[in-house]
Amino acid sequence: MSLAEREINQRSVEETDRRHNIHPFTDLAVMETAERTVIESAKGNYVYSDDGRKFLDGLGGMWCVNIGHGRDEMADAIAEQIRRLDYYSPFDDLTSAPMAALAEALTARAPGSLNRVLFTTGGSTAADSAIRLIHHYFIRLGEPARQHIITRDKAYHGSTYLTASLSDRGYSTDWRPESGFIHHLSAPSLYRRPAGTTEAEFTDILAAEFEAKILELGPENVACFIAEPIQGSGGVIVPPANYHPRMLEICRKYGLLYVADEVVTAFGRLGHFFASEDYFGIVPDIITCAKGLTSGYIPAGAVIMSDEIYEVLSRPGAYFNTGFTYTGHAVACAAALKNIEIIERERICERVQEIGPYFEERLAPLSELPLVGDVRGRLFMMCIEYVADKERKELFADEVRIGKRIWRHCQKRGLLVRPLAHLNVLSPPLTLERGEIDFIADVLHDAILDTADELTRDGIK
Ligand code: PMP
Repeated sequence: MSLAEREINQRSVEETDRRHNIHPFTDLAVMETAERTVIESAKGNYVYSDDGRKFLDGLGGMWCVNIGHGRDEMADAIAEQIRRLDYYSPFDDLTSAPMAALAEALTARAPGSLNRVLFTTGGSTAADSAIRLIHHYFIRLGEPARQHIITRDKAYHGSTYLTASLSDRGYSTDWRPESGFIHHLSAPSLYRRPAGTTEAEFTDILAAEFEAKILELGPENVACFIAEPIQGSGGVIVPPANYHPRMLEICRKYGLLYVADEVVTAFGRLGHFFASEDYFGIVPDIITCAKGLTSGYIPAGAVIMSDEIYEVLSRPGAYFNTGFTYTGHAVACAAALKNIEIIERERICERVQEIGPYFEERLAPLSELPLVGDVRGRLFMMCIEYVADKERKELFADEVRIGKRIWRHCQKRGLLVRPLAHLNVLSPPLTLERGEIDFIADVLHDAILDTADELTRDGIK
């Protein structure tokens, strides 16, 4: 028994965790006394807790376990890489075979002239690095005033200081020094669009808002627009059909760069390696990715940029002062290469195109149930929004914790989903079977009805 295991065994994992661990995006006061579910193992589409419970992983870990859990091939690839080369710095002229091979694999699958890669440690560091390198780019281009960044409500780009500020304003209420150069547009939410507008009219409104913001700031001061193809953590907000092409057109008109944050949408979740071109018909200037890059087996992220940006960054006399100790970590790159091999060998993108519509179809009828305002999403990226009043689309008070209540009922029935305020999000492994889709739909159905009864019992509704 290792020292760590011996220490843990002296107390329960739960008690040790309660004493020392700070959990992300969690109410710390509640966590002082809250019970823990100790996830002990995972295989395929399931995770298991140390008290013997089995859960279908409706969230793919955290939008990331695209190829499913516990693959021996992944363990072998990671172990082999550690035996050959655990880690060495990629700074200056040092490199490694996995880092070179992964950059080639990514650029071969990325759209347009996106042929240069800067590896990072995850999604936040990818978005953060993308913004830094855009600032480098415009300075070198002789347009140093281009510093302003346009983002959107309901966005999630990460949890560094900068990327929290790029995210929905709710993520950075306690600190906003960057707010001087970060600007938010409306989320392209069809469910909450102005009453009476068609999808096309709504797209016009959003495009006009973007153009007006650029003109207000002065186009010569604006660097880029950053957007998730489908907003994930903000509630799986699928934009109107022509939204991304319109936003790109406006970027081109005023010389802004377009950054597509594909941290969730890449590596098969929407049936393609990257969703920007193949799903939404646009070629951005930069794609950031993470999560499905290694299917979460080990942390990694990447910024993939166009040749045109790279040409400016690599002009003589400039020094590229951005990077991390673990940029291009050999073990992470080996894991990503094996993950990509599995996605292609098992035709996972094609599988998502084939089975994903069944997931949409099985969840859609939930919208008939009480509490459900909207069921939305595409393929293996879905969400249910709960409302107190369906007609008026009014939300429950925060204290009701509606998403968490339904999540609890799901968990009791062996399904893990993500509770977010008034939402439940689903982003399962892409290896999900039809029978498991039925299970998810049935569990959610029963959990929603039980929660409706519970709200009545508690005198809430
Ligand atoms: N961008 C998007 C779209 C994300 O969903 C996330 C994580 N949920 C991030 C960035 C941040 O990634 P990470 O947590 O790996 O830093």
